[in-house]
Amino acid sequence: MDQQDFISIKINKQKRIALVAHDNRKKDLIQWVEINKDKLKMHFLCGTGTTAKLISETVKLPVKAFKSGPLGGDQQIGARIAEEEIDFLIFFWDPLEAQPHDPDVKALLRIAVLYDIPVANNWSTADFLLTSPLMEEEYERKVIDFSKRIHREIK
Ligand code: PGA
Repeated sequence: MDQQDFISIKINKQKRIALVAHDNRKKDLIQWVEINKDKLKMHFLCGTGTTAKLISETVKLPVKAFKSGPLGGDQQIGARIAEEEIDFLIFFWDPLEAQPHDPDVKALLRIAVLYDIPVANNWSTADFLLTSPLMEEEYERKVIDFSKRIHREIK
């Protein structure tokens, strides 16, 4: 694919960050948010229902809550990534336990890759992302230009 098959979508200096953690990873994510509170408060935060509620209560940061993950919260976040309303994902998923909503988890991760947003699935990646100089800059992500693909396929 060459350059013109992509469109650029801006990630602003103020990131719109979704926070999601499976039950066995919630303590870790809350601790990570606590440690990084001062940086995270510069950005807009949202998350799946229980994760968002626990972070707001424990860390005292405003976090917009969607539905709980198993009740559709992951899908709500995925939809907002597709609508360009969320552009950053910290998702501590559980590598040791199957979830009732595994298809939704897979769908969310797929959409995040497709829309070229930064994604951290564990503590070290989250650290690397948050300490990147790009956190304080605008960034042009590259998203496949589907209008061209659709046009090509129906010819
Ligand atoms: P929860 O959802 O924050 O509502 O627990 C997380 C998930 O399991 O996707």
